[in-house]
Amino acid sequence: MGCRRSFERVGPLRWGEVTAVLCLGSLLCAARPDGPPTPARPSANELGRVIVVMYHGIGRPESEWQHTPQALQYDLERLYEEGYRPIALRDFVAGEISVPAGLSPVVLTFDDGRANNFELIDGPQGRVAAPETAVGILEAFNAAHPDFPLEATFFLFGGRPFGDAATAQEKVRYLLDRGMDIGNHTDAHANLSLPRYGTAQAIQQTIGAQARRLEAMAGKANIVDTFALCYGARPRNRALFRYLLAGSYRGHSYRHIAVLNVGGPPAASPYDASFDPTRLPRIRGSLFPTAKRGLLYWLRTFDEQPGERFISDGDLGTVTIPSSAASRVSMPRVGSRRLVVL
Ligand SMILES: [Zn+2]
Repeated sequence: MGCRRSFERVGPLRWGEVTAVLCLGSLLCAARPDGPPTPARPSANELGRVIVVMYHGIGRPESEWQHTPQALQYDLERLYEEGYRPIALRDFVAGEISVPAGLSPVVLTFDDGRANNFELIDGPQGRVAAPETAVGILEAFNAAHPDFPLEATFFLFGGRPFGDAATAQEKVRYLLDRGMDIGNHTDAHANLSLPRYGTAQAIQQTIGAQARRLEAMAGKANIVDTFALCYGARPRNRALFRYLLAGSYRGHSYRHIAVLNVGGPPAASPYDASFDPTRLPRIRGSLFPTAKRGLLYWLRTFDEQPGERFISDGDLGTVTIPSSAASRVSMPRVGSRRLVVL
């Protein structure tokens, strides 16, 4: 963690310190009569908020729409050390949060399918992701930390994802084969607030054409079920919002379980009554120009205010919440899971 100070000042509390403080009042920390103390673990809070990170380019220099490879590596190290584990966007929306007890989910997203997100190079055992691309960095981190799952969603537009039409199919299938996901980002990086996208037909065309294209590359139907708004722009006519969620174009239908914004605070828990997957906020991973509200800001904030953070109970069958938050829970979203109020 020697590089931490090159990006920001260390907050007053680090994760280990936070857990130690929490455990002063927690039975979880009680020493077992026959052995050493049980590991320090914060209490579960599955109504806490969840960080959904939005990255674009991974390259140099650092800018509003680009994060350096070293900075992405740093983010992953920081997330890992502070108890975050990636989950699939789809699982987050569904409330299927499979991270160990005491840890927090994080969702990683990359918009625009830039060439520096994913290049394939020849390795001794076949084609592999180039090391300084987003995919290469994620894979290397996962290899070194198998308990940090390879989960990320790449939102792609147009017919040349990752900068090259010739390798598009190979790259899309590479991602899917390794458990990562692709999402829709329209066929032409469409600003849906512009007048030319002001009809149901125009919206369905730009989303539906891209869904058809991506699913053809993937060789699988109905696998593109998340949508990231370009520029964060929605249709001006609210009556057209429904076409962000579902529609069809030339016989190809699409259906989205989530529509992602550009920017915003951490997302509500999927069990919170305020959770809205049609307006999912994302936190910028890049350092500029919004470092004060970027990823590192929110990591520090959750470090200082651990009660704000989603902390898993480690059990997919239960939703564990503090009694102070009970009025916020959505029982329909808890569904068949058992609600545990601490
Ligand atoms: Zn974009």
